[in-house]
Amino acid sequence: MADKSYLGWPFFEQRHAVLERDLDAWAAEHVRDAHGSDTDAQCRSLVRALGDAGWLRHAIGGTAYGGALDAIDTRAICLIRETLARHNGLADFAFAMQGLGSGAISLFGSDASKQAYLPRVAKGEAIAAFALSEPQAGSDVAAMQCAAVPDGDHYVLNGEKTWISNGGIADFYVVFARTGEQPGARGISAFIVDKDTPGFAIAERINVIAPHPLARLEFSNCRIPSSQRLGEAGQGFKVAMATLDVFRTSVAAAALGFARRALDEALAHAQSRKMFGQALADFQLTQAKLAQMATGVDSSALLTYRAAWQRDQGQIVTKEAAMAKMTATETAQQVIDAAVQMFGGMGVVSEHPVERLYREIRALRIYEGATEVQQLIIARELLREG
Ligand SMILES: Cc1cc2nc3c(=O)[nH]c(=O)nc-3n(C[C@H](O)[C@H](O)[C@H](O)COP(=O)(O)OP(=O)(O)OC[C@H]3O[C@@H](n4cnc5c(N)ncnc54)[C@H](O)[C@@H]3O)c2cc1C
Repeated sequence: MADKSYLGWPFFEQRHAVLERDLDAWAAEHVRDAHGSDTDAQCRSLVRALGDAGWLRHAIGGTAYGGALDAIDTRAICLIRETLARHNGLADFAFAMQGLGSGAISLFGSDASKQAYLPRVAKGEAIAAFALSEPQAGSDVAAMQCAAVPDGDHYVLNGEKTWISNGGIADFYVVFARTGEQPGARGISAFIVDKDTPGFAIAERINVIAPHPLARLEFSNCRIPSSQRLGEAGQGFKVAMATLDVFRTSVAAAALGFARRALDEALAHAQSRKMFGQALADFQLTQAKLAQMATGVDSSALLTYRAAWQRDQGQIVTKEAAMAKMTATETAQQVIDAAVQMFGGMGVVSEHPVERLYREIRALRIYEGATEVQQLIIARELLREG
């Protein structure tokens, strides 16, 4: 049983502890441990189940649109991701993508676009996606080539996006494209593109080590009404970064959930596995490893919930979110690797919980800004402050 004393930390309010307790109980009953073979179907049904149970209300902002609160509560999103990740990586993914895919609408949408999309996202009736990356523009977002040219009361969108989570099953995509108001990052705008818009196509489905829906998208003379633009023309980079400021911290929370699960599994195994006439946990080498894992988990939790709390206070968290994401994902990788090692041969058997965690954690060190990008962000902020 996981230690829940961290819920008493000053970052949280009473409602957060209640949220975690209720979700933990719900997930234990409703979220299957293993991934099925049909990831699309499993993902769709997880979105539905999370919507029916009311958890997706926390993924959006605005009670008028079906949200739990008037503004996005970063701590709630982080606690939900951490808890779901502890139970099942795909459940965390399903929740996270509803938030990331609709985050720009919660933060920058007009009343009409909020009404049109957010209630369906919150009920799990519409699946959301966030389309920023391109084959030649991953870490270097400003190298984006996908372009949207104004044409009367429409924009004409051409280009491609890749690595798009929920690609192939999403009902709508928040797409970032170059509109050219100014060079580089200042000439990008954000648009909502419905899946059945003529000129939009799924060009390729991509398989990854921890399966989830992922695709390359193509836009070919795809006409988007100007009313589908989010924020001002040329403000797309700001829209993307504000969305990532919320969800980057939540990637740290997901990594934290994976790490906690690995520590729980390792503790239970070390106490029950007998060798050389005693338990694995009786060896000091094992105890040193467990101490290191637990300290890593707490360090990640402190950085994650500091960033979440600061954002909920209305503070800018660029540096803190980067510290949390870098530390929690890198630490989780080490904690999970240590757990796999403690399980011996069992640790590499397909679909064993620690084997799944070993695959699940890897992409988190790459997406929403690779570790090296987080290092540069932290250093840039430090140098600016100093
Ligand atoms: C499973 C998965 C899901 C994803 N989901 C989405 C999604 O839903 N929407 C979306 O828009 N994108 C998504 N992405 C894309 C993701 O954000 C990019 O993969 C990421 O930004 C890295 O871009 P890249 O793959 O082009 O790698 P590159 O930009 O080519 O970077 C390769 C590596 O170079 C290193 N690096 C980067 N910058 C520097 C530097 N300045 N100095 C030194 N080294 C550096 C890092 O180690 C990095 O991993 C997803 C990716 C994955 C793997």
